[in-house]
Amino acid sequence: HTVVETKALEKHYQMGGQHLRALKDISIRIAQGDFVAVMGPSGSGKSTFMNMIGCLDAPSRGQILLQGEALTQLSAAALAKVRNKYIGFVFQQFNLLPRTSALDNVLLPLLYNNTPRDEARARAQACLQLVGLGDRLDHQPSQLSGGQQQRVAIARALVNDPALILADEPTGALDTETGLEVMQLLQQLHQQGKTIVLVTHESDIAAFASRQLLFKDGSLISDRSSIPHSASA
Ligand code: ADP
Ligand code: ADP
Repeated sequence: HTVVETKALEKHYQMGGQHLRALKDISIRIAQGDFVAVMGPSGSGKSTFMNMIGCLDAPSRGQILLQGEALTQLSAAALAKVRNKYIGFVFQQFNLLPRTSALDNVLLPLLYNNTPRDEARARAQACLQLVGLGDRLDHQPSQLSGGQQQRVAIARALVNDPALILADEPTGALDTETGLEVMQLLQQLHQQGKTIVLVTHESDIAAFASRQLLFKDGSLISDRSSIPHSASA
């Protein structure tokens, strides 16, 4: 089924009397199980697109449907609720809480929706095991490598079992080899049926995805599917 659909999506910014169309007439469907790489030069609208489908900001025109639910008419509070229910975020700089164990970082999203503490703990532990950090539950971010910190962040994004994982340059702060390891993990999650959209500047990273979108000056100029490159081959 369709996880995200946009219809004639537009985002405009007003900057000192200037009118900027940051996104122009974007109509796209992202299906369950898609692994999408969003590419394009700086300023082409990638972050704006991610902010729209991530329910972080409202469109100027057009529609977004997330799991069939129209987002356009929602208040900021309702949008935040939809965001917490359906979306897991992964950031370039990991955004983990310092001086907080990996386990507590991962179970944090569950405390917001009142999951009982024991269940939250068990789910956070299972997610850390899934990303290969079952033996690092009590480590704080400063005791982990960059790649391990990003794995914790990925576990945190998974813990609510979201319909969609959004990753903004998840390998941008990592060296090449560690970045490829993180991409192998995302590819593994894709093979397990997760729907993932990531932003990247690097075609080596985009090659892990099964679909590549190219933005230019706010327009979607290319949308192609590919056989994902297998790093394990
Ligand atoms: P990226 O590294 O993905 O290209 P940017 O540096 O373009 O991201 O933007 C980072 C954030 O700052 C984005 O979420 C965007 O909404 C915001 N931003 C970008 N350009 C401007 C601008 N001219 N004025 C205000 N905010 C901006
Ligand atoms: P990218 O992520 O591809 O670098 P962005 O989506 O950040 O591109 O930006 C697209 C365009 O919108 C750029 O011209 C940027 O300066 C502008 N922009 C982004 N966010 C804002 C904002 N909050 N206010 C004004 N202009 C913005």
